[in-house]
Amino acid sequence: MKKNMMKKLLALALAGAMMLSVVACGSKEDTASGDSTAKETITFGTNAEFPPFEFVTSQGTIGEFDGIDMAIAKQIGEDMGKEAKINNMEFDSLLLALDNGQVDAVIAGMTVTDERKEAYDFSTPYYTATQVMIVKEDSDIKTAADMKDKKIVVIQGYTGETCVKDMGYDYEAFKKGTEAVLELVNGKCDVVVIDSATAEKFVGDNEGLKIVEDSSAFEAEEYAIAVKKGNTELLNQINSSIQKMLDNGTVSELSAKYLDMDIEEDASGSDAE
Ligand code: GLN
Repeated sequence: MKKNMMKKLLALALAGAMMLSVVACGSKEDTASGDSTAKETITFGTNAEFPPFEFVTSQGTIGEFDGIDMAIAKQIGEDMGKEAKINNMEFDSLLLALDNGQVDAVIAGMTVTDERKEAYDFSTPYYTATQVMIVKEDSDIKTAADMKDKKIVVIQGYTGETCVKDMGYDYEAFKKGTEAVLELVNGKCDVVVIDSATAEKFVGDNEGLKIVEDSSAFEAEEYAIAVKKGNTELLNQINSSIQKMLDNGTVSELSAKYLDMDIEEDASGSDAE
């Protein structure tokens, strides 16, 4: 009698456990099925040191992150029915983060280059920029060739570094644009080579600086979103969102808005002391 009851209980418990495990497996499969619609978030990697594209502020578009790219990322998320999240990291780590699955896509004012294209897929470009030189107002630098014997500062991993390297000039690389510009403001270097729109922001934020352009030395660069090579499903979704934002004027509106905006950046030099 006692034995029978034990057996029955055991059988019941087993059946229960099996049912539970079936349920558990079922729900697990839903999220790990690779079906992107089952996922509720899309994580973008960025380096929020690059106004007007991405910067940290008290009330941003996605959490504390704001800028042209952040607004674009948010819209892509909305178009996909997902919440856009930001993973802020060093610029140099962004593409590696795609490799190891830390982020789904990289949006960071990132220029499409042949080298990057070999290892990653890029979306439709959404912005055209160029490298420029930031110098002191009284500088005698008028062309890229004038940088020859000057103290040049670039930002590590940016296309500006590649340009200066290719020109064969010595340079020092900093991790943040704000650090590079501070170096110039403090008279410790003669020129900072950086992307045009970001240069405008930095010159606007600091007295006594000006921008020198040299279109014969610096080619046009196109910004696009990077995804893991072969992730066509995500790339197609991103592309249709970007195309929509290019066609309906959203990208131009955002560019105008953030270029005009007096950015109260938390990172604008104040943390460099
Ligand atoms: N456009 C430059 C590059 O791709 C800089 C980008 C950035 O700092 N966010 O290297």
